[in-house]
Amino acid sequence: MAGSVESARRSSPEIGVLALQGAFREHAHMLARLGVATREVRLQEDLEGLDGLIIPGGESTTMGRLMAEFDLVEALRAFARRRPVLGTCAGLIIMASRTTQGRQPLLGLLDITVRRNAFGSQVHSFEADVELDLGPRTERQTFPGVFIRAPWVEEWGPGVRVIARCGERVVGVEQGALLGVAFHPELTQDMRIHEHFLRLVSAARR
Ligand code: GLN
Repeated sequence: MAGSVESARRSSPEIGVLALQGAFREHAHMLARLGVATREVRLQEDLEGLDGLIIPGGESTTMGRLMAEFDLVEALRAFARRRPVLGTCAGLIIMASRTTQGRQPLLGLLDITVRRNAFGSQVHSFEADVELDLGPRTERQTFPGVFIRAPWVEEWGPGVRVIARCGERVVGVEQGALLGVAFHPELTQDMRIHEHFLRLVSAARR
């Protein structure tokens, strides 16, 4: 019996989406289009058995405060040591170790410093091509970047690989199986970022 449960688990991953605040439903929709089971995460126990986690866009100070209130900070850090995590926009900020603007609750998963609302507070949102570099075996490609009061990555440590640029600015990074982008792939029809994340999830399950 245990064997069949185990093999069912192995055949199809289940991805959590942190659902405290922000654009979590859009990520769940995109994963559903990719045929992947999802679970909304609000409590520590919701993380159990998940193969990966997405931290959505929203408002990073609010999300950080709720993470602390829901007693999720250490549980999320522990999860990220074992499983792939994708953060988008506010999710990228939450995954960072530092912001340029002083203190706010962060998970410190990525060795990066982010600048919040980096493209100028008057620029609420814009769309621009992002140059993607998803790894040695993939071609460089262009991705439709949707930026909403977006951060950029100001500094990154030696273990961090830049995977996305918008002009001169670094808007996507990867560190092991942790992935963060400053834009919103879940608000486009383009599934390449989610597909790349699912490849990290598959690799981590093997
Ligand atoms: N500006 C927001 C923040 O600092 C992020 C915006 C977003 O997630 N779309 O949290």
